[in-house]
Amino acid sequence: MEDKCKVIAVANQKGGVGKTTTAVNLGEALARSGKRVLLVDADPQGSLTTSCSVKNPDRLDVTLSDLMSCEMSGEDKDTIYKDNVLIHFESMDLIPSNIGLSGTETMLFNCMSRESVLKRTLDSFKKDYNYILIDCMPSLGMMTINALVAADSVIIPCEPSYLSVKGLDLLLHSIARVKRQINPELKIEGVLMTMVDYRTNNARNIAGALRDSMGQNIKVFSTEIPRSVRAQECANAGKSIFVHDPDGKVAQAYECLGREVRCLDRESKNRPRNVGAR
Ligand code: ADP
Ligand code: MG
Repeated sequence: MEDKCKVIAVANQKGGVGKTTTAVNLGEALARSGKRVLLVDADPQGSLTTSCSVKNPDRLDVTLSDLMSCEMSGEDKDTIYKDNVLIHFESMDLIPSNIGLSGTETMLFNCMSRESVLKRTLDSFKKDYNYILIDCMPSLGMMTINALVAADSVIIPCEPSYLSVKGLDLLLHSIARVKRQINPELKIEGVLMTMVDYRTNNARNIAGALRDSMGQNIKVFSTEIPRSVRAQECANAGKSIFVHDPDGKVAQAYECLGREVRCLDRESKNRPRNVGAR
């Protein structure tokens, strides 16, 4: 494979901000542009798994939890699990999860190098993909720390409300700590405004204020995801927005976001080493 694989964590400890929706639809946008994409469900609620049309995640034989347990115990079932874990969804592959992952998160506390179990689990998948997108759970617990350690960069979906923006401090603090202590190459890909309702002044003002306050230090994607009922229907329909409402504004927005992400990669590849680093 010619290109290096990039691992992106989609994270925010707040629930309901559009992490899962972004993982599916950014993933599908990248896949439709010819990239090989793997989605990883790192939330025991399994919302990414159900969004990818798996009706009953609790009945799955093999999930992320098995791969991670294997990694922790050094069991030899590695290849059996790896051959059976992937689920194909639209133009992507998915490593699914279910409630079993919460037990795995508890086990992490007693294992060696507990912060890097997910990273080691995903390493062997990297050769087959251009992008691995990890959908994080709504907490800053050990699973999310594992995702930040496994990642090259983080996308932070954020609703344009005062409290959501205020909550970003805590996440940025965790990202800075992971970067300082374990994963110095970790970058913030960008903050993504989701569910933007252009009819309300409040949303517009907050999006503007966030751009002003973050502007110099942290990228806020110029693409914003509009609020739309069609996007809300996607998870239940078990389809990406590109299948559910291909001509709508949300499909268009995720396509733009995919383009922004690919552009950032090209820029960072072309940049001479050490210039503009961190
Ligand atoms: P998270 O993973 O952060 O908890 P989700 O992606 O599950 O967030 O989104 C939370 C809820 O908002 C879901 O019901 C989802 O369908 C809905 N939603 C996500 N994006 C949009 C959007 N652009 N417009 C309207 N509803 C959305
Ligand atoms: Mg989610």
